[in-house]
Amino acid sequence: MAKVAVIGFGLVGRLAALMLAKTHQVSVFEQGDANTVDSAGTLAAAMLAPLAESVICEADLAEQGLAAIPLWQGVLAELDLPVMFQQAGTLVVAHQQDRGDLHNFIRRLKPLAGHSAQSLNQTDIATLEPELAGRFSQGVYLPCEGQLDNLAFYAASFKTLKRLGVQFHFHTKVNIDGNQVGNDTFDWIVDCRGIGAKAQMQGLRGVRGEVARIYAPEVTLNRPVRLMHPRYPIYIAPKPNHEFVIGATEIESQDAGDVTVRSTLELLSAAYTVHSGFAEGRVLALRAGLRPAFDDNRPKVTRDGALIRINGLYRHGFLLAPLVVKNALTEVML
Ligand SMILES: Cc1cc2nc3c(=O)[nH]c(=O)nc-3n(C[C@H](O)[C@H](O)[C@H](O)COP(=O)(O)OP(=O)(O)OC[C@H]3O[C@@H](n4cnc5c(N)ncnc54)[C@H](O)[C@@H]3O)c2cc1C
Repeated sequence: MAKVAVIGFGLVGRLAALMLAKTHQVSVFEQGDANTVDSAGTLAAAMLAPLAESVICEADLAEQGLAAIPLWQGVLAELDLPVMFQQAGTLVVAHQQDRGDLHNFIRRLKPLAGHSAQSLNQTDIATLEPELAGRFSQGVYLPCEGQLDNLAFYAASFKTLKRLGVQFHFHTKVNIDGNQVGNDTFDWIVDCRGIGAKAQMQGLRGVRGEVARIYAPEVTLNRPVRLMHPRYPIYIAPKPNHEFVIGATEIESQDAGDVTVRSTLELLSAAYTVHSGFAEGRVLALRAGLRPAFDDNRPKVTRDGALIRINGLYRHGFLLAPLVVKNALTEVML
């Protein structure tokens, strides 16, 4: 059995370990503890939004994202705990004063293999999301999109990998050097360190994102809702038990420090304008993190002997990683 070291137990590291654990002897090295709070994937909304993201990325990436959504079902089916996954589309709305932004957004949507956006009037919006009835006069529905519960995925993947015999080395910050990790030699090393690989991967940068996680028992939404906003599109992604991820800022900064007052005010007031039930919601977490990205905001896989690096998933890690990681590991899996 080939020995594989997976460095970094974030989103990419978990998917890599899951894809290899049954057929390889896998060791995971992670600088943090089992909660991996430094992983960008722990604060992500985990939306699978190829159509909405096609506005800001190339068509081929959006197509890959669309193709990757069914792969998630295969990944989640193998896990020891259930993980909320849905493909019930995304609703995009705008307040009257931001209608121009909505039209601009619709104009920039790229056609994706038979999947397109559907224009909605007030009645259509109320049918999709009854609690938003009367709040928005127009919107657009992106039926092919989905989302999953990132925290449930993190918990379930850890449990499953332990059961499959993967060896874990937490509190272990690795500087990759040949095919050695510490005193151990591996047949393959898979570098999944996200922004932690910045010193070794030229051009890798962090793109700051801030989110709030709210418990709002007075709010029920059936799918992610995006709100056009003058500074950045805001989304509200409903997770199980009336929890909502509200995000996200996008700031060209390497600063992973605490969420600012300005961002908190913007995110939470925008959510309140969508649904007044957020007023009595409880703030479970306000978090900031860095999306690992290259200059072109596209993922990059490199191979140097036994070392495979997978990085630059930017704001599309959940969308693209099942496909990117699977392709990156083709040779390892032979
Ligand atoms: C606010 C926000 C919202 C997002 N929303 C979405 C979304 O809705 N949909 C979507 O598709 N994507 C989203 N993303 C993007 C997604 O979260 C990232 O693309 C993804 O997490 C990147 O995965 P990764 O494994 O490369 O990095 P990470 O998830 O950051 O994991 C890297 C891991 O490596 C560890 N590590 C680093 N250095 C070392 C070292 N030297 N030794 C050992 N371990 C190390 C870290 O501790 C960490 O656990 C969002 C990101 C943010 C920040």
